Amino acid sequence: MNYSEVSRRDWIKTLGMGVGAAALSGIGVSTSREARADFVHKEDKTTGKLLDGSQANPCKLNADGTIARPAISVPKISETDVLVVGAGPAGCCAAIAAARLGVKVPLVERYGHFGGLATGGLVLHILGHWTKQGDKKVQVVQGIGEEMMKRLEGLPNGICNREFGKNPTLDSEVYKYLLVEMITEANIECLLHSWCCDAILADSPDPATGNPVVRGAIIQTKLGPQAVVAKQVVDTTGDGDVFYAAGAAHTQREYDIGLVSRIANLDRVNPPEGTKRPRHLGDVSPVKGVNWVNMAGPSLDGCDVRVLSKLELQHRKQIWKQVQEVRSTPGYEDVYLMETAPQIGVRITRVVEGVETLTLENAKAGKTYDDCVGVGGAWGGDHIGWQVPYGALLPKNVENILTGGRSVSAEPLMSDLVRVYPNCWVTGHAAGVAAATAVLEDSTARSVNVAEVRKNLLAQNAYLG
Ligand SMILES: Cc1cc2nc3c(=O)[nH]c(=O)nc-3n(C[C@H](O)[C@H](O)[C@H](O)COP(=O)(O)OP(=O)(O)OC[C@H]3O[C@@H](n4cnc5c(N)ncnc54)[C@H](O)[C@@H]3O)c2cc1C
Repeated sequence: MNYSEVSRRDWIKTLGMGVGAAALSGIGVSTSREARADFVHKEDKTTGKLLDGSQANPCKLNADGTIARPAISVPKISETDVLVVGAGPAGCCAAIAAARLGVKVPLVERYGHFGGLATGGLVLHILGHWTKQGDKKVQVVQGIGEEMMKRLEGLPNGICNREFGKNPTLDSEVYKYLLVEMITEANIECLLHSWCCDAILADSPDPATGNPVVRGAIIQTKLGPQAVVAKQVVDTTGDGDVFYAAGAAHTQREYDIGLVSRIANLDRVNPPEGTKRPRHLGDVSPVKGVNWVNMAGPSLDGCDVRVLSKLELQHRKQIWKQVQEVRSTPGYEDVYLMETAPQIGVRITRVVEGVETLTLENAKAGKTYDDCVGVGGAWGGDHIGWQVPYGALLPKNVENILTGGRSVSAEPLMSDLVRVYPNCWVTGHAAGVAAATAVLEDSTARSVNVAEVRKNLLAQNAYLG
């Protein structure tokens, strides 16, 4: 049985047309269990080998207690131009921007949806797309980020507080939907449920720099590891998983790991006069009666699975307690916990050591760069904009990989501005355009013509100061 048969059959089921409609279309579909025996495979779909256990090639526990992973040949599932790994705010912008320049772009994401912390992490507040110029506020985040906000305005409950000078708030489900729309419109190949677990390096270093050259990534899937080979890679995993695996110099940061939640029925709150407003009510969202509730949490290593597991349990207990506290306040009895974020809120982990490093001092001084590929904003729009030099996206010691989003090269204090997600839109957009420009020019990420990158960014409505 081939894939198209399955998808057609499943499609009919999805549409709810049932047996009658299927029979009309000439496809025999039965709802009985026995008839589904044709879904049983006895051979591995890629290798054709019998599924008798001989295909397994597990790790070995050595006598000295060490564990050895056998060398294997990894199947290649895609050979492409620009591979974008991580579909958060930065990665979605990178992928859309690159695809709009006409190159082939697969987008790899470990979860089943797009948006990263802005959707799975329930971080709904869009902080930092304004700056102050004299006594005026200016919106510096334009390009694909602004296009997303505009399109959210056109969708029911998509975004609120879009008035000039305010920090808007979006709805995570509407944003998930919008990203599906924008990513499919751009013809991006989506590899969801694919966890990038390694980098692929060329067999010889770059002749000019002697640095390793990234040529793709390995994704861990239910079918085992699979390879995506690419001319350029953009690492927007937030945690720098690809540049880390490729050997890029970086720092490891620890900062406030929280868990965000949403509470509902706030439109039914009716406290008796004089009732003290309970804590942990969070902030408004575009959905009536629903607030998003942020959390700070302890500063620990967001790449350590034991830390993350412990915090998931701890934070869930804390959120439950907080909501019960709200509900025990007179007039707030109907408030309930609508959801906790499916994805824990890791604020920062690995930050690449770039050719340029953003500093707060330079940002405050309004330092300008010839290779400026974007301008970032301030949390409350209360200070001047800061330019993003291309070198902040470019690792010092590895070739053909760029980063965008919260792992962009910045000193710790500056990372607090870099990581807010409109600024991730900006750096993701720039990384996507630069990677695509390098492919179109047949150059490398290091030697790409930055003037051309800037021209392409301006053509996509980016603001470069
Ligand atoms: C609790 C909390 C509150 C915050 N509050 C605000 C706020 O109020 N306003 C604001 O603007 N910002 C806020 N931020 C910051 C902002 O949400 C993030 O910094 C921003 O979303 C980062 O975007 P990104 O694209 O760089 O990374 P992420 O949003 O982290 O996206 C990374 C994507 O890559 C995927 N990924 C990761 N590793 C892999 C892998 N190995 N293989 C495949 N896919 C992978 C992830 O699943 C995810 O989709 C907050 C952050 C947190 C944690």
